[in-house]
Amino acid sequence: HPTLPRREIRELPDELISQIAAGEVVERPASVVRELVDNALDAGATQINVKLMAGGVRAIVVEDDGLGIPPAELPLALKRHATSKIRSLDELESVSTMGFRGEALAAISSVAEMAIATRCEGAPHAHRLEARSGELKVAARSRGTSVEVRELFFNTPARRKFLKTDATELAHCLESVRRHALARPDVGFAVWHEGKLVEQWRAGPAEQRLRDVLGEDFFGSSRAVYAEAGPLRIYGRAGLPEAARSRSDMQYVYVNGRYVRDKLIAHGIRSAYEDQLHGSRQPSYVLFIDIAPDRVDVNVHPTKIEVRFRDGREIHQQVRYAVQDALALSRAQAGEAPAD
Ligand code: ADP
Ligand code: MG
Repeated sequence: HPTLPRREIRELPDELISQIAAGEVVERPASVVRELVDNALDAGATQINVKLMAGGVRAIVVEDDGLGIPPAELPLALKRHATSKIRSLDELESVSTMGFRGEALAAISSVAEMAIATRCEGAPHAHRLEARSGELKVAARSRGTSVEVRELFFNTPARRKFLKTDATELAHCLESVRRHALARPDVGFAVWHEGKLVEQWRAGPAEQRLRDVLGEDFFGSSRAVYAEAGPLRIYGRAGLPEAARSRSDMQYVYVNGRYVRDKLIAHGIRSAYEDQLHGSRQPSYVLFIDIAPDRVDVNVHPTKIEVRFRDGREIHQQVRYAVQDALALSRAQAGEAPAD
């Protein structure tokens, strides 16, 4: 078109590339919490503390007692596509860490103020790196890492406008920690807001963690799920039909320890309830699905909330059977005849 002026092709500046990428990964404070807790878990933390100000918009600090980062590698940790977790396509296909894209810290530091304080085992002291200035200083802390994120979206006002009230953002942050806590009973979690302890889950047996996080009400009105089919293991708890809710806010599915949203699995579970759920009633459940890593692709979505299965139909069926079995058992216990 003659009147349309053409602009020459140029490479985007690094900062802008990160900000664009951040749009996919960092939607709100809870996304930051998710990424930082993922990192803490990947570092082998046994205790993770999350400290929030103003729903996480003003500040998010995630402290762990994990392996730490050697000071020489600190600047790399903030670089895009820099990771200690995979080295090759082979390793991507069998990845067992929560992270592997090497994107989160770069993305977060492009839309917020960030600092990392960290110390490795045997190091004479800790180091603290300020992302914006690049200033690296000696600091004080025990082994592990603290990542501080302040003033989220201060430089991307369009994004900041989409944030809800502090109370809503806090609720999302808590939900993010809850998802991690359900999957990792071996790790202690604590959350503070405005200096007040608002949630605390101590490391302990898996069953106790489910009780602590989801409440005795859920626990008492749910049944254990357990099934093994070849390389597939399905376990967790399924709420009884009479405990169904009007909202789908108690539905947790994990694939190899990662919280996911998957239509196929959700449908498999739902179909196990068949005609026992009326209208729009929503079942409650926590389901862990362990599967050989080469049977599932986790590199589908930047936030890794979606996965793709090699044998989707098989998994759908096994999930359905597993939940059906759990529910049938409860019917038998109640003195009713099992469905088949
Ligand atoms: P990814 O998790 O995909 O590797 P990130 O940007 O989240 O990418 O982190 C980059 C790197 O920084 C990680 O690979 C890891 O080596 C290091 N790192 C980040 N957070 C921590 C932490 N809490 N403890 C130890 N190392 C960390
Ligand atoms: Mg990460």
